[in-house]
Amino acid sequence: MTTQSLPSTTRSEALFARAKAVTPGGVNSPVRAFKSVGGTPRFIREAHGAYLTDVDGNRLLDYIGSWGPMILGHDHPAVREAVAAALTRGTSFGAPSDGEVRLAETVTRLTGVDRVRFVNSGTEATMSALRLARGFTGRKYIVKFRGNYHGHADGLLVEAGSGLLTNTEGTLGQAAPSSAGVPEEYARLTLVSEYNAPAALDALLAERGHEIAAVIFEPVVGNAGVLIPTPEFLAALHRVRDRGALLIVDEVMTGFRLSLRGATGLLGLTPDLTCWGKIIGGGLPVGAYGGRADVMDFVSPQGPVYQAGTLSGNPLAMAAGLATLEVLEGDPGIYTRLEAYTAELAAGLKAAAQRAGVPLSVNQIGSMLTAFHQEAPDGSIRTYTDAARSDTGAFAAWFQQMLGQGIYWAPSQFESIFVSAAHTGAELNATLDAAHTAYAYLGGN
Ligand code: PMP
Repeated sequence: MTTQSLPSTTRSEALFARAKAVTPGGVNSPVRAFKSVGGTPRFIREAHGAYLTDVDGNRLLDYIGSWGPMILGHDHPAVREAVAAALTRGTSFGAPSDGEVRLAETVTRLTGVDRVRFVNSGTEATMSALRLARGFTGRKYIVKFRGNYHGHADGLLVEAGSGLLTNTEGTLGQAAPSSAGVPEEYARLTLVSEYNAPAALDALLAERGHEIAAVIFEPVVGNAGVLIPTPEFLAALHRVRDRGALLIVDEVMTGFRLSLRGATGLLGLTPDLTCWGKIIGGGLPVGAYGGRADVMDFVSPQGPVYQAGTLSGNPLAMAAGLATLEVLEGDPGIYTRLEAYTAELAAGLKAAAQRAGVPLSVNQIGSMLTAFHQEAPDGSIRTYTDAARSDTGAFAAWFQQMLGQGIYWAPSQFESIFVSAAHTGAELNATLDAAHTAYAYLGGN
């Protein structure tokens, strides 16, 4: 099978060269650099619905969705109109405004938390929630899981998942901390356990439980590729409370994606604190954390735990988030449709790989999916160690074949892709046609 003629990327290449001269690695977030798959990252000119158009005019079917926020597709009219209306009233006040109240009321109503505080990114959300947990419990240590990513705050860059697996020299398989510049003293306050290993968590809690402020986890992992938690692991997580620690669910990726109540609703979790990002801002920079009133009332100015932000609760961001949540809430079939598309995509990828003799193991839940290039039964990849057995070279070759056919997949084996409501049967067919060609190329026929 010959590969089709490649699209022109001249303008992306020129921009990438200019960017590299003025920005580290030419990008403002590492995974955008295509480091693990090679080639030039596409510089994007515009995005509508399920498609991006790059600066060379190539139309790309988008499975990244800005890494999760664009669940409605790009440039959704309700979001565009809400932002445009907010824009006529000013871009930032540095004082409270009604959009913050309305989004907070919507989030508390949909998710069941008592109080929510808006910040500007997922990183800020998890960082602030952990400070709050420490302030509330008076304890120092936190627990996270191998391959879970919670943003780039110092204490969280420990065994921290995909961007670090594929974008920082020499970190693959390295023990904590997983970034230079994180003092060992900080990293030492972060205890790491294996995801989906309830006995390991129980043992850690038995030994250190009295010192632990919080356990933070991805309820469905997206940052080691998709990993789905077992009921036994979720039960062990809920036992952390018996030790006086708080349970923090990081729904930055899964919140409003897996259901209107996120993974918390889908999996029946009862966390003390929840972190959000991505969808809650409808494509503008927003994060949030929330939870029980007695814990949240420890936050400044009500309580002693300081946390602030010049642009927090920004009126444009609040408008985009609110419009997104209103569309999601007003369309009860939306999560069923997202799931159906993604399940068909999973089955189609699997069938195409099998036909071509390419080993593939698919993890899929709702509109999140990772196709791991390795021989393992579907759904059996449960830990970071399992995921890391994948053939990243085969993934990179497959990725390039897909990109050459206009399918914009996440540029790392250890990422989830995200399906949007703008993906329809036509997009599914186009994707599976391209995948058929890409696997046939990999299989050598
Ligand atoms: N937590 C999770 C689960 C994430 O996936 C991410 C980002 N991918 C973050 C936190 C950090 O969010 P942000 O990039 O907005 O800082």
